[in-house]
Amino acid sequence: MYPAHPNGQPSIMLECINCHTRVPLDRRVAGCPTCGENILEARYDLTQIDVQNWLPIIKRRKPNLWRYREVLPIYDSANIVSLGEGGTPLIKSEALAASLGLKHLYIKDERQGPTGSFKDRQATVAISALKEMGVTELVVPSTGNVAIAYAAYAARAGIKVWSFFPSLTPGDKMREAALYGAEVIKITGTYDQTKELAARFAKSKGIFLDRGIKSVAAIEAMKTMAYEIAEQLGDELEDGECWRAPDWFLQGVSGGMGPIGVGKGFQEMLDFGLIDKMPAMGIIQSSGCAPMVEAFQRGQRIATPIDNPQTIIATLATGNPGRAYELLYDYVHRHGGYFTTATDEEAFTATVILARTDGISVEPATAVTFAGLIRMVRERVIKPDDVVVMNCTGHTMSVEKHILGEQWQHSVDLSEQNKTPALPEEGLLSALQQVESQVRRIVIIEDNGDAARLIQRILQAQGTYDIQIAENGAQGIEIIRSTHPDMVITDLMMPDVDGFQVIETMKSDRKMSRIPIVVVTAKELTVQERARLSGQIDMLLQKGSFLDEEFVENLVSKLN
Ligand SMILES: *Cc1c(COP(=O)(O)O)cnc(C)c1O
Ligand SMILES: [Zn+2]
Repeated sequence: MYPAHPNGQPSIMLECINCHTRVPLDRRVAGCPTCGENILEARYDLTQIDVQNWLPIIKRRKPNLWRYREVLPIYDSANIVSLGEGGTPLIKSEALAASLGLKHLYIKDERQGPTGSFKDRQATVAISALKEMGVTELVVPSTGNVAIAYAAYAARAGIKVWSFFPSLTPGDKMREAALYGAEVIKITGTYDQTKELAARFAKSKGIFLDRGIKSVAAIEAMKTMAYEIAEQLGDELEDGECWRAPDWFLQGVSGGMGPIGVGKGFQEMLDFGLIDKMPAMGIIQSSGCAPMVEAFQRGQRIATPIDNPQTIIATLATGNPGRAYELLYDYVHRHGGYFTTATDEEAFTATVILARTDGISVEPATAVTFAGLIRMVRERVIKPDDVVVMNCTGHTMSVEKHILGEQWQHSVDLSEQNKTPALPEEGLLSALQQVESQVRRIVIIEDNGDAARLIQRILQAQGTYDIQIAENGAQGIEIIRSTHPDMVITDLMMPDVDGFQVIETMKSDRKMSRIPIVVVTAKELTVQERARLSGQIDMLLQKGSFLDEEFVENLVSKLN
């Protein structure tokens, strides 16, 4: 079943995406011999694979991307350079999904790769392929993650890397590549200029150049994400009986390699009969560098390059998407999808929300995807029942300093107290009180613990709050009396003392009557009930509705 070595009849062919000429996968095929097209796609002799037997074999293999090795462009598995990449978890989102009103939101957690981004997939396949070709030196232009991943894998393979970075790349990322032994060349210019310079350097020195999306390895590597998602969604939604494609695959896009590879993966699985449909593709770009989105909105199949990207998200600063956009445009026209943008600000906000709702810390390029998701849900492009998979492409490193601004820490300085031994405890106490006085206190009265915690997590995603949860009305009133919070959020239907009674008790007590009240209810209110609440509360929220930032902002504004 394993593809034959080139000595025999090679079973991996390269097909020109333009004129469909086929050539065997061999050393350094640079382009189509007929028309000169740069992008050639790998084609496998799928008839050699007996799908019924293949699936149990896959299941027995290690959970890394080489478990799909029959559809990867390596002849001899002895050449595989691996650090255990791929096989990343598909995490079901809870709080974020609920706050968006989505039932099936999944996060493909690519942060869990060996170097913290989905570029590990590309690196393992590319470096293995180079090893098979006997290449010993490599030039790679990168906005950070590709070079880091290549440098790590190349170190294992004994291949020398020359990495070229645009100056926008965070210094820590360049240092990381240098740590793995790569030569680091920083270019004062855009990413597109950096690519040009790297190509010239490679040509003049006769060194192999990694051509990103134009390389077979890159697309083939990214496609393994599709195989994993289909297998994992099958386990999740079909009890492992069969594989399953999501309704949506979403990603923050720069060069477009991820969605192009993933699209190819789903197409292969459809051809195999492993899945029964293709997912729609959600492409999100940073609004300061969104040539694909702009072209799509104009209805154009060719993108106009952006010469001077206006985003600080270096990872997404490809100004000239070239052919990649055409491929994605065609995909979206055939199978559905959407192109949209998110601003850097929206991305930073989304980073914080995701970290505080689902406990996932991502780099800004990834956060753009989540900001785009919020937009697509608002615009009703994505529906509540859709199965949505987000590519959680990379981890926040210590390099992302701008996300939290300056006010992210409370500091308590004990150095003065230590010098004056008198009253140290009082000093500590007043320091802590100062910290506490900056934090807003909210009491949630809700007999359903899950619902209470969900509201708590959504609020905490937006700011620092001291939140106390009461399980019933009586306990709630007790807490409100003793802590005097800045706001009360209460359910209406509760056993014994219900929400109406809580509100009436608060309103009839001068100490509590001015605390803002937000009512959260699953109940359709009767005319009488509405009358009872009228003038007493500050906000009414129907459960299961949209608990988005706007809602929270609205709520927070009531705090002041
Ligand atoms: C490379 C990268 C992207 C963009 O990927 P493409 O599919 O090549 O556009 C997004 N996020 C992270 C973290 C990346 O490293
Ligand atoms: Zn051709």
